[in-house]
Amino acid sequence: MLQYQVILTTAFMQNSRLIWDDVSRCAVICDPGAAVPAFAALLKEKGLTLKSILLTHGHLDHVGGAAALADEFQVPVIGPGIEDAPLLAALDQQAAAFGLPRCPSFAPQYVSDGDMLELLPGVKFKALATPGHTPGGRCYLQEESKIVVVGDTLFAGSVGRTDFPGGSFEALERSISTKLYPLPDDTVVLCGHGPDTSIGEEKRYNPYVQAD
Ligand SMILES: [Zn+2]
Repeated sequence: MLQYQVILTTAFMQNSRLIWDDVSRCAVICDPGAAVPAFAALLKEKGLTLKSILLTHGHLDHVGGAAALADEFQVPVIGPGIEDAPLLAALDQQAAAFGLPRCPSFAPQYVSDGDMLELLPGVKFKALATPGHTPGGRCYLQEESKIVVVGDTLFAGSVGRTDFPGGSFEALERSISTKLYPLPDDTVVLCGHGPDTSIGEEKRYNPYVQAD
C-alpha cells in the first residue's frame, strides 16, 4: 500500500511529497521545492530507499531542490513535459526574480501523455498531460491506490494561476475537465499547495471548473 507525507520546503508553502510503498520500502519525492535536510531525515527514519524525483511542472517552488537531491541520492529526475523546458532552463532567472539563492539547471527525463512510469517496484504511475498552469504540466495517476498528484493544476475549491508566462485558463479548464474529472470520485487529489481533496468533491463544489 502506498503512503504519503507532505514536507513544506519553501516560503511558498509548496507541498513536497514523499510517496512510498510499505512493502518494497522504496520512495519517490514529488516536487521538491528545496533540498532541505528533512528529506534525508525522513527517508532514514522510515528506512526507505529513494528511487526517483518526480516533477509536475517547471516552476521554481516545485523544482528548486531537484538537482541537489538527484545528485545527493543518485536518482533520476522524471517529468514534467518537454514544453516546460524553457522554464527549467531559466531557473536561475526565476530564483533571481524572487531574491532566492542560485538554482542550477538540470535535464530531467521528460514525459508524454499516457506514459506509464514504474516509479516504485511494481507500482506504475500514469502521466497525464495537463497544460494550463504551465505548458508542460503533468499530473500523475496511481490507479490502484486511487491517488493523483496534480501540482498546481487543481486545488481544493480552486485552480492554478494562469497569469504566468505560458499559462492559459482555457487549456487548464480543458485539462481538468478531460483528464481529472473523468477519474473515479474517490480518487484522492494531492495538491501542490493547501489541503488535499478528492475528484468527487471538486466536481461538485469547485467554482472555477464545473463538471459537465
Ligand atoms: Zn506553479
